[in-house]
Amino acid sequence: MRRKIESPTEVQRWFRKQAAELDPAGLGSLTLRHNPCVREHCAACLSGEKHPSHVLYGRTQGRRFCIYVPDELVPEVRRCLDNGLALQELMYQTVIRFTKALKHKRTQRVQKVSHEQNRQPSS
Ligand SMILES: [Zn+2]
Repeated sequence: MRRKIESPTEVQRWFRKQAAELDPAGLGSLTLRHNPCVREHCAACLSGEKHPSHVLYGRTQGRRFCIYVPDELVPEVRRCLDNGLALQELMYQTVIRFTKALKHKRTQRVQKVSHEQNRQPSS
């Protein structure tokens, strides 16, 4: 099925509608770490299991960040990251559709100008 030719404004409207459903959107990596503690003779540390905790890390403005995430907040943070990946995909789709729409609009403009020039021959 061929999609109909969109205008740049239609692409903007489509993007806004899709992006609104991906709120909030974030980027980063959420990982489970197993860190040792400072207690002596800790059963968890001695067993090698240590102390699992979630950490969110990534980069912003050229600097690394690393944030501890309490277990009960993990689902919400993960949803934010899922939205971020979906938004990234949406942005790729958007730039393709938007560029195609701009090119189509430009072609129409060029055709319109040449049509007008044909109707009004220079004296
Ligand atoms: Zn321990």
